[in-house]
Amino acid sequence: MKVPKKMKRYCKHCRKHTEQTLNLTHRGKRSSLKDGQRRRDRIKRGHGDGGHYSRKPIKDWNRSSKVSNYKGAVLECSECHKKMVVKGGFRAKRFEIKK
Ligand SMILES: [Zn+2]
Repeated sequence: MKVPKKMKRYCKHCRKHTEQTLNLTHRGKRSSLKDGQRRRDRIKRGHGDGGHYSRKPIKDWNRSSKVSNYKGAVLECSECHKKMVVKGGFRAKRFEIKK
């Protein structure tokens, strides 16, 4: 997938179409206070049944591994210099930013 580095898009802060540059973002560190991580810690601590009775065995879970990679991106407005997250990011096997 090829995406241009600069594109003209609507900026909600300027309320008009402006030139915006695309930058890739990196995933941050996992937070130890998030609900999922706390649940995982609780299960690992050894209290309770670890969800064994309320969950199907892992082999019965309907899940498939994704073949494409996720790329998060932000657009920076050239006029107000505010950054806007690209909703959903990009998902592609190969990702390239054209200059
Ligand atoms: Zn703007």
